[in-house]
Amino acid sequence: VIPEVRANELLAEVGISSLPIDPIALAKGLDVEVKELYLGDACEGFLIVENHRAMIGISSTIKSEKRKTYTAAHELGHLCLDVLGAPNKKIECRSASIETYARGLPEIELRANRFASELLLPKILVADLVLNSDLGWTAIDEISNLADTSRTATARRFIQLTDEACALVVSQKGQVRWFAASPSFALPIDMDSRLLHAGGAADLAFKGKTVPNEFLEVPAVAWIRGHRSKLKDASLQEWSLPLNQYGQVLTILWDDQGVGDFDEDSVADVEGDEEEFDPRFGWETPTFGKKRR
Ligand SMILES: [Zn+2]
Repeated sequence: VIPEVRANELLAEVGISSLPIDPIALAKGLDVEVKELYLGDACEGFLIVENHRAMIGISSTIKSEKRKTYTAAHELGHLCLDVLGAPNKKIECRSASIETYARGLPEIELRANRFASELLLPKILVADLVLNSDLGWTAIDEISNLADTSRTATARRFIQLTDEACALVVSQKGQVRWFAASPSFALPIDMDSRLLHAGGAADLAFKGKTVPNEFLEVPAVAWIRGHRSKLKDASLQEWSLPLNQYGQVLTILWDDQGVGDFDEDSVADVEGDEEEFDPRFGWETPTFGKKRR
């Protein structure tokens, strides 16, 4: 079952066709008990099924109401995707597994996150809003207020539905944790660099400095892996937010000039050029130009 398809089936089953979508009310309507309770530090939510009776637990220590909403939607995802009629089941979810698309995330958690994002921000209700907005955190925050969803979840959805070439980059402890690219964003973001480029807005945010609340032009090679000679003078737009309560910096990258629109085959890998250290970005030598197969 495709998580997004299942989420839309559920919305149709309960007759929901407008924003905001309240997964806690939705669960209660399905006779699923939802309880807020103390779950310790690491666990943020769980689903328990006993004799076919389902209960969702949400950590009382979650500070943001939007995160509680997301967690409830995530647990509904487990109910719809992973229980499959079993009389008894218990699934516990760590906070590090909710609302993230990091590499190495267990498949079951990835599915629940995909389900939650579609449930709270269904394409059928959100696509027109995205296509009629200018890319940036202003529009993302407006949709987030309308849908009562978190910035991260809303931004990922915006990126999936926009026709601009852009990407959401989520960084933690000064390095890229995960990213999501729009269908037309053709550049590979560097996931292996140890640090964000020094002096960039995301780097400043980690250092607690004031970050301009707008797009800023940055060298493309500050974020992008490979094609270094081709991208030497190219630039991207970067809009990073201040450090959030999860210790993350959220960045929108926008390829407003179509830097990614070149034919990869026409770009010869230039040996030597790929190895040089660029002191502007404070990296150890990244593995630029590595062939992707
Ligand atoms: Zn989970």
